[in-house]
Amino acid sequence: MSTGTVTNPRTGMDVDAFREDIKQHLHYTLAKDQYSLTEWDSYQSVVLAVMDRLHDRWIDTQQRYYNEKSKRVYYLSMEYLIGRLLDNMLINLGVQDVAAEAIEELGFDYDKIRAAEVDAGLGNGGLGRLAACFLDSMATLGVPAIGYGIRYDYGIFDQDIKDGWQIEKPDQWLQYGYPWGVARPLKKKYTVQFYGDTTATKDSSGRLHFDWTNTHNVNALAYDTPVPGFQNGIVNNLRLWKATSDEGFDLKSFNQGDYINAVRNNMLEENISRVLYPNDKVFKGQELRLKQEYFLVSASLQDAMSRFKKQFDDFRKIPDQMAIQCNDTHPNLAIPEFMRMLMDQEGLEWEPAWDIVTETISYTNHTLMPEALEKWPLSLMSNLLPRHTQIIREIDRRFLQSIEVESDKSSQSDKKDRMRIISNEMNARVRMGRLGIVGAKKVNGVSELHSNLMKKTIFKDFAQEYPDKFTNVTNGITPRRWLRQCNRKLADLISDRIGDDWVTHLSQLKQVEQFADDPEFKESFEQIKLENKQKLADYIKKTEGVTVDPHSIFDIQIKRIHEYKRQLMAVFHMITLYNRLKENPNADIEPRTLLFAGKAAPGYTMAKLHIKLISNVAEMINNDPEVADTLRLLFLPNYSVTLAEKMIPAADLSEQISTAGMEASGTGNMKFALNGALTIGTLDGANIEIREQVGPENIFIFGLTVDEIEEIRQNGYDPEKICEADKELKKVIDQIHKGYFSPEQPDLFHPITNALLKEKDYFMVLGDYRAYVDKQGEVEQVFKDKDEWFRRAIVNTANMGHFSSDRSIQDYCERIWDVEV
Ligand SMILES: *Cc1c(COP(=O)(O)O)cnc(C)c1O
Repeated sequence: MSTGTVTNPRTGMDVDAFREDIKQHLHYTLAKDQYSLTEWDSYQSVVLAVMDRLHDRWIDTQQRYYNEKSKRVYYLSMEYLIGRLLDNMLINLGVQDVAAEAIEELGFDYDKIRAAEVDAGLGNGGLGRLAACFLDSMATLGVPAIGYGIRYDYGIFDQDIKDGWQIEKPDQWLQYGYPWGVARPLKKKYTVQFYGDTTATKDSSGRLHFDWTNTHNVNALAYDTPVPGFQNGIVNNLRLWKATSDEGFDLKSFNQGDYINAVRNNMLEENISRVLYPNDKVFKGQELRLKQEYFLVSASLQDAMSRFKKQFDDFRKIPDQMAIQCNDTHPNLAIPEFMRMLMDQEGLEWEPAWDIVTETISYTNHTLMPEALEKWPLSLMSNLLPRHTQIIREIDRRFLQSIEVESDKSSQSDKKDRMRIISNEMNARVRMGRLGIVGAKKVNGVSELHSNLMKKTIFKDFAQEYPDKFTNVTNGITPRRWLRQCNRKLADLISDRIGDDWVTHLSQLKQVEQFADDPEFKESFEQIKLENKQKLADYIKKTEGVTVDPHSIFDIQIKRIHEYKRQLMAVFHMITLYNRLKENPNADIEPRTLLFAGKAAPGYTMAKLHIKLISNVAEMINNDPEVADTLRLLFLPNYSVTLAEKMIPAADLSEQISTAGMEASGTGNMKFALNGALTIGTLDGANIEIREQVGPENIFIFGLTVDEIEEIRQNGYDPEKICEADKELKKVIDQIHKGYFSPEQPDLFHPITNALLKEKDYFMVLGDYRAYVDKQGEVEQVFKDKDEWFRRAIVNTANMGHFSSDRSIQDYCERIWDVEV
């Protein structure tokens, strides 16, 4: 309400100023009145009012970094899975309630305005979401960071489920414009080169100089999105590059009078930033993807260098002024590109350039799975990036020369073969992971287990060669979005008891543990969980037309669909419960609602078949009156950050059941536990650290360990034998195989049963089935005892401090970037 004092409507942080600014934007920016107003207009006017409040802080922050000559962190990522930003911006500005009141005073509905925003889905899954959490944490900690990425016209596809099958639809997130991102035509245009030739010439002093000529050029246009820290006045920048072509026209066609073709060819350049590749953890060697990767690297390094050169002229200062972090191998061309810039453009010799690069760039490894490792065909790379290929060859040559090898000749060549960056095969390939290790200051894995396995398996020789290069930074999640924003009621309950310092110092949550046996706190905690479940039940009713019981166990597995994540095992368990209930209608089975969501890569046939199986089993269970009071199964379409925000606060049980050794970290596991779900999981990725934090008695751990799996593989794993020995398992497999869930096409699921039995079940679903089903029995017993269940849930929430992405960023600052926080 009116406070009496008049504040500037453009910047005032009170309700009156906010309301007036929204009104002004509706009228003067959008030319709308109450008659022509749409939900999108209301939303956009609110965003414009929020942007007004960010601009001073944004400019001031950037000016301060400049004046203080701060060391910058350049975070290079092909993916940012951002989701909606309105709540995030308002919370971090500290005006969520103020804005909500201003919005209501205007007669708008805050929930509808929030819902009008389109997710920025510029990522596939965990890796892209990690980058988004890190942006929030870097701004909150005041790290002078810039996020660089690509402004894809189309982000991750929209997923429809038709007849149980996944259908992909283009994600038209920019259809009506994106009010959080502003185009920034820069003073200096950045041109990115492709193809062409390299020529070596000797200058007067006899020094070899390399030129890269006859190239095909594309421009990089910057779009900036503000990244505010949590209530600290800091606003960092996320800079996304769009590919443009302003050489105007294909001159040859133009001169021949072929105007239409000249213009049409333009669009080929712009294709570089057209679409996000929808594969998660699988490498496909497409040229357009390599173009995207180099486009990101080239534009970002030009930007970083031009910022450096404004204030410094001694290139040896670069490692004191920049830390460049590559999110996976995708931006690892930064290593040869930085060498090229320093040598060919700035005139440095190899050695000083190499010293600078290897003190500046670092690389985060995200997976050990061979099919995910980038290995670019040398022929493709040398055609697209001839100069970089020369440089990579030279990096490789010097590296192999430098490594100490045993005197014995044969082991020498063996070891070199295991380590060369350009593999010595018929069809030679450039190994981007190895390039990253040789050229980076530090290489980190993303959980303790993963970092250790990295040194013991795929990079063993390298870890021996460079023991100090390897380090760990366990992933984290931002508590702003993943508690304060998505579960306001729980956030407020916690703040009522311990204050709100936890929002930026998540280890403060430890204080909540003392209320784990406080009846009043427990009652409120339980009540909030029930309300969240009711809200999700309402959403499911509205979108799927299915009724679910909020008092049943909400058992949730949401993540990309991957064989290694083993959605299959959770469905097998559900089928087992179904069979038990069909055999014995009085079987003691706790009511359970199993919810899945997740996208399958469009070309991943097996993953798509898993979705179809889940859908068919769901159809049968939900429509069988004999079981439908006890069991419900749904696959919710279009998993996204926004859907995650609806589902996670409503979960009782978090499914983290990957084959041990295959999930590098996981971050979904952290979001669930923070919101008071109990985890059922394997000893994989960050599950191990979650167990350490919450205590083994407060997490349901089951299944084969990494060491056991290795041993079983060596002794010969026999899934058919396991199947024969387990009646319940055999029944499940038989039903799937014989078409019980696909009567109209009995052999539909044969690829699934064949992968398990004939192709030896690489992911050991059968090997872990019995341990999993038994552990689920334990889950049921504990769930019956609400007092015990919620005691454990509270202990989980209380011990999630370690998994704040603020802690991750502090680790990066100390262990890798050498930046003070
Ligand atoms: C957190 C998150 C992920 C990662 O989930 P995992 O279970 O760690 O694989 C993927 N997608 C979205 C939308 C997320 O929010």
